[in-house]
Amino acid sequence: MSGNEQKYGKFQEEPAVDLSRIVDPLCSWYDVRKRDLPWRRDREPYHIWVSEIMLQQTRVEAVKPFYERFLRELPTVNDLAVCGEERLMKLWEGLGYYSRVRNMQAAARQIMEEQGGIFPDNKEELLKLKGIGAYTAGAIASIAFGEPVAAVDGNVLRVITRLEMDARDIMKQSVRTEFDRRITRALRKKCAAGASSPSAFNQGMMDLGAGVCLPNAAPLCEECPLSSFCQAHANGVETDYPKKKGAKPRRIENRTVLLIRDGERILIRKREKKGLLAGLWEFPNPEGHLDRDEAVSYAAGLGLEPVRIRELAPARHIFSHIEWHMTGYEIRVASFGEEAEQPYVLIDTEQVRREYAIPTAFSAYYNWLAKHGANADADV
Ligand code: SF4
Repeated sequence: MSGNEQKYGKFQEEPAVDLSRIVDPLCSWYDVRKRDLPWRRDREPYHIWVSEIMLQQTRVEAVKPFYERFLRELPTVNDLAVCGEERLMKLWEGLGYYSRVRNMQAAARQIMEEQGGIFPDNKEELLKLKGIGAYTAGAIASIAFGEPVAAVDGNVLRVITRLEMDARDIMKQSVRTEFDRRITRALRKKCAAGASSPSAFNQGMMDLGAGVCLPNAAPLCEECPLSSFCQAHANGVETDYPKKKGAKPRRIENRTVLLIRDGERILIRKREKKGLLAGLWEFPNPEGHLDRDEAVSYAAGLGLEPVRIRELAPARHIFSHIEWHMTGYEIRVASFGEEAEQPYVLIDTEQVRREYAIPTAFSAYYNWLAKHGANADADV
């Protein structure tokens, strides 16, 4: 057993670093180095909430245009609460993990109906809102309202486990809870005098994790305001931490995406109300990797008359627990007739782009469709 394992096995009550010592250096560094981000231009809890939810699975640069558009279309909590489903899904299109925005709308309705339209101003009350967990509640409470509470995410776990050479599994809730408690205690101790702020500390952790204590590359320790406290750095073992043991391998699913169209219209369908990508629109995507004959048979099985087929490039999409490995075909049919049978609908190819939220999982095929307008030829 290593010294560190001893420290965190028997003597867990004696943490390696007094976290109150890192508060001031991190806040001072943040004051000078903070990134200029659209959601940092004010302290509106609604703005911080939207940004934090968007950032959960998406990079900062990618989030910026979505964030601006979302707030332009839905500038208040009430606008979000009353927004129609199709419009909401369209606003979220490209961000993925649509349950996030459904939960946001449910929480917006809670705020309007149960809180009289007043945004909760502390972590405990924020945790009662749908889809808001400990990290998001901590981020909103500290940044918008200055409450001395932690916001423990992957950045914090990485930085602290490196600082302390903590070899425990960061997938364990008990480890996260303990970090949350220790950071909150440190913030209460250091921020009471007003020199450092919980907002600067938590956002400093976000910036440190994004630009210095990097997740998938060697950290830039010479730029780190915490390097003098860091045991992993002192021992040259920065990238050995954090340890993640609980992550399950993703399940692989093979699918064949079919762009079935005539001259002007394309066939799409709505997914089931529950489960992966619930209630969103999709191109038909039977399970397995179909060959040409099987793809043609599938279209014929829908009562259509395929006349031409073209193979499209394979694509992948990674969900949290599943990976889709996709092949695809464009299938031209003679004519669709007036309407498709439920759950399918026929829509103008242009309409897909304007009005229907097609999940990012299909973006390779969606983009192909956008490039190859209604009159592109298919191979025989
Ligand atoms: S010194 Fe290096 S490893 Fe340690 S917290 Fe800073 S960037 Fe991360």
